Amino acid sequence: MPFAYYKRLSAKQRRIYDESDAVVRIQLPGAEKMQARVAALARALRKSDRKATEQASRQLTEAILKALGVAGVRVRVLAARPSHDWGELHGLYEPEEGRKPLLTVWMRTAQRRQVVAFKTFMRTLLHEIMHHLDYELFELDDSYHTEGFYKRESSLFRQLVPDPSLYEEGTTPRATRRSAATSEGRTRRKAGAKRAARKTAAAEQQHLPFGDS
Ligand SMILES: [Zn+2]
Repeated sequence: MPFAYYKRLSAKQRRIYDESDAVVRIQLPGAEKMQARVAALARALRKSDRKATEQASRQLTEAILKALGVAGVRVRVLAARPSHDWGELHGLYEPEEGRKPLLTVWMRTAQRRQVVAFKTFMRTLLHEIMHHLDYELFELDDSYHTEGFYKRESSLFRQLVPDPSLYEEGTTPRATRRSAATSEGRTRRKAGAKRAARKTAAAEQQHLPFGDS
């Protein structure tokens, strides 16, 4: 079932959408070797260190794109998310003529200026990388939010963060983390993320082509 905006697309756009929707997974070579970079990113974010978060995001993005044999991007991490009546912007992918595309992720919420949770930040970063991959890896003429797009994003997340409970806030000893994060809690959060993603798809199509609110 395509998203509602499919109805408004032209025949050419629908072909791109269908192509995007058909690819549900990405195999990331050497994903397990990137886990140190993922952990560095989580640490920097937890310390609310913008520069270190940016540096870690750059290194992780570079490693992912290199492993996939795809051209690089510029990565920027900014403080508080811009907000508007349509909501908050989480990330942005901006292709630029004659330059590497610019990928931006915000690390604080607009309202309370709190540092976003690791999983949220990581998903946003991977989401924006997905837009880049649509053009550079899948050679699509446009990058749409399709169910396939979100599944690819999740597949990349699962390979890089096989055990999200390791990064959960508030639980310290490694041994107790697994039991603290009940599978029920995880499922519920996942369902919430999915709902948010769907809402984003609708909102983003109407407002900014690659802004992720
Ligand atoms: Zn997007």
